Amino acid sequence: MRVTRVERVEAVARGEDGRWIPLAFDLEATLAGDVSSEHGMVVNLTDVKKQLRERVVERLSGRRLDGSDADAPELPTAEKLAQGIWDLLGGKLADRPLVRIRLVAARSPIVTWTGEEMRVTRSYEFSAAHRLHAESLSDTENVRVFGKCNNPAGHGHNYVLEVTLAGRTGHAGELLPADVFDRIVESEVVGRWDHKHLNEDLPEFAGINPTAEEIARVAWRRLTAPLARAADEAGTGARLARIELHETARNRLEYEGEDE
Ligand SMILES: [Zn+2]
Repeated sequence: MRVTRVERVEAVARGEDGRWIPLAFDLEATLAGDVSSEHGMVVNLTDVKKQLRERVVERLSGRRLDGSDADAPELPTAEKLAQGIWDLLGGKLADRPLVRIRLVAARSPIVTWTGEEMRVTRSYEFSAAHRLHAESLSDTENVRVFGKCNNPAGHGHNYVLEVTLAGRTGHAGELLPADVFDRIVESEVVGRWDHKHLNEDLPEFAGINPTAEEIARVAWRRLTAPLARAADEAGTGARLARIELHETARNRLEYEGEDE
């Protein structure tokens, strides 16, 4: 059986005009192996994730890959990059043979410039369980309003959260360093909520029916102050401008803090 792990890599490339531009891609690493009769898995993906991050993501992130960076390998084309990543892993991952490396242009970050305002959107994923149930409604009404989402034991979603900062760039030419941006969203929302039951496990949802709308509002409240503080420290004064939450591939909503 084949197993694939995806990690985001953000390096830097030289554009046609000679200037440096961000190069973001999703690295898909696929390995092959037998399913263990002991634990029912080909491999523990926690080990795969750790190795990919240590050997590839940390070595390439933020680096120039054209040979001008002494601390980074010279991988100036996408083809060489795919081969170079294979070599960084020694053709193996978690002691299993690599089957392929695939590079896919990443959807995040998205940078928007209007001539006056800069916006940077970064995208995150988390999986969580919830139960939609309004205390103000009877059990029968809850079933009528929320249908199978009222299932007493709950159900799960793979959420996508897009976070947009807006403002002016500082001396470093950015709204907020990507690692700081990620660390805040990770600690305040995504890492905290991932693999949790929102109603049962998290105090911020006490007394709140965790619809996508309420989840977006809670995320907004948790992110506003830490992002503002970090942006002030970076000297840019950027602010949280928008959250987009995808609950399924077909249901998504946008929130700009309008009822805060
Ligand atoms: Zn749901």
